[in-house]
Amino acid sequence: MITTRRTLILEELGLLPRWVPRTKASDAVEPPDSSSAAVPSQVPGPPLARAEHLLSSNAALPPLTHPATSGEVDTAQPVAHMSWPDLKEAVRGCTACPLYANRKQTVFGVGDERADWLFVGEGPGAEEDARGEPFVGQAGKLLDNMLAAIGIKRGNDVYIANVVKCRPPGNRVPEASEAARCEPFLTRQIALIQPKMIIALGKTAASNLLGTEASIGSLRGRLHDFHGTALLVTYHPAYLLRNLPDKAKAWEDLCLARDTMQRLKSAQAAPK
Ligand code: SF4
Repeated sequence: MITTRRTLILEELGLLPRWVPRTKASDAVEPPDSSSAAVPSQVPGPPLARAEHLLSSNAALPPLTHPATSGEVDTAQPVAHMSWPDLKEAVRGCTACPLYANRKQTVFGVGDERADWLFVGEGPGAEEDARGEPFVGQAGKLLDNMLAAIGIKRGNDVYIANVVKCRPPGNRVPEASEAARCEPFLTRQIALIQPKMIIALGKTAASNLLGTEASIGSLRGRLHDFHGTALLVTYHPAYLLRNLPDKAKAWEDLCLARDTMQRLKSAQAAPK
């Protein structure tokens, strides 16, 4: 029955009959261009060693400092200490960047607030703006299938959020200044959730979380360190809907994520 469900999921992802899930994170393949990207947060060594290093060095996120320019509201300082209810309220009423003007509603995030898994996308599209939930519609369906393929489910040990909480007009990429104004909210979400692993979906999420303009191709396929938390980069589901061949690479990334999570949990459960 499980095999049948997995088969159905893999077919949905377009990964059968060619792709078979790996069982060892050590099988992970470095992309050919990965060595060329200078990413300060990359943790060296084989994936499992890096994961254990990340686990052993897991530390609270340092507070962010976002010096506000004259006349701007500095959202970072108060947000850094907010509870979940206060944070949700703050996002609901936020006008810190121009994206507030065209939103139907803010899209805060959804899921288990103590999840081990945190998936971060770019920003709400039209459907998300209308429904107030991230990753709905076709991209959301694909994300749900990607989660199911590694045995996890939206809302169950999984939290989903975006870099910006308001819809950019025409679904454009958020401006750097907009993402910077919204960053304290995501940072506080991460600090409250304390996930074991963050999956950055697409370039906007990867760029903002890792502080690099390197390509997805150079960032995916290996672990990064986000303030002591393991972070993996893969393609955004909306991109995968338009670029079917890259689904296979996303599947590789998910296998690495799944295997790394298993190792992190085993390392945490092991007697000291
Ligand atoms: Fe505020 Fe973020 Fe919305 Fe901008 S995108 S108005 S910073 S909640």
